[in-house]
Amino acid sequence: MTRRTALFSAAAAPALLAASGPARAQEGGQALPIAKARTFRVGAFDVTTLLAGSFPREDPHSIFGGNVSDEEFAAVSEENFLDPAQAQFFFTPTLVDTGAERILFDTGLNAAAMESALGDAGYAPDDVTHVVLTHMHGDHIGGMTTEAGELTYPNAAYATAQAEFDHWAAQENEGFEAKVRPFAERFAFLGDGDTVAGGVTAMAAFGHTPGHMTYRLESEGAELVLIADLANHYVYSLAYPDWEVVFDTDKEAAAASRRRILSMLAADRVPMIGYHMPFPAAGFVETRGEGFRYVPVSYQMMG
Ligand SMILES: [Zn+2]
Repeated sequence: MTRRTALFSAAAAPALLAASGPARAQEGGQALPIAKARTFRVGAFDVTTLLAGSFPREDPHSIFGGNVSDEEFAAVSEENFLDPAQAQFFFTPTLVDTGAERILFDTGLNAAAMESALGDAGYAPDDVTHVVLTHMHGDHIGGMTTEAGELTYPNAAYATAQAEFDHWAAQENEGFEAKVRPFAERFAFLGDGDTVAGGVTAMAAFGHTPGHMTYRLESEGAELVLIADLANHYVYSLAYPDWEVVFDTDKEAAAASRRRILSMLAADRVPMIGYHMPFPAAGFVETRGEGFRYVPVSYQMMG
């Protein structure tokens, strides 16, 4: 770099940041220009995590640890190098390319942010053959349709848990009415143990919502579990699975599902991808004390 370009960069940087900040925040909430797609190899599958948005959220204790004191929440945060006054949220759909199918798990907050993340991975919305909704909270179904109200993934077959669909269909939920009900006839309904495609199996993990499902991927002896919203924070929900999470519909059932599936991942040493884990959202689980520890991937599964 010449002295001239160095000076130019230094002078230009603050102006560029100021100009791009608000636009970025509107697109998907990213404050930082970080990569939005990362691909992992699981046997013959290419598994790509797609960052559909990230933003800070104040007062995480109003969300995690409803059944513990402010003092305990602050102590656990500090012990884990986290600010007890602010957390960073991540929203991470995953695309599983089996070679024959391209299966998208969840659709993010909106279509535009997903299109951008998919583009970074070399895919277009038309390439998606299946869309699986792990559950129907707004941050998972928001990208079902474009701003014009059309399906973002027009070539896809759709699937979700029968229990999840039935739950929301019986409410008057704005998100469900806009994003799911108009396309109800396109959906196949899954139960525990059903397969989406060869090597892609639904595993019930009810509690976060009444029909919340996780998905086990298996290819050529390699495995990975998409845990969706089984755990919403890599420390608060892994180390303290019994801490109540405001987003969990049935708090007791959610904690029981967390313990059951995290125990299995730890015992079998199987990696996981979590929708709300810090990007790239993939890691391993080990038991520690009364709970678990999240070990982020480094260079595993590079293929
Ligand atoms: Zn979620």
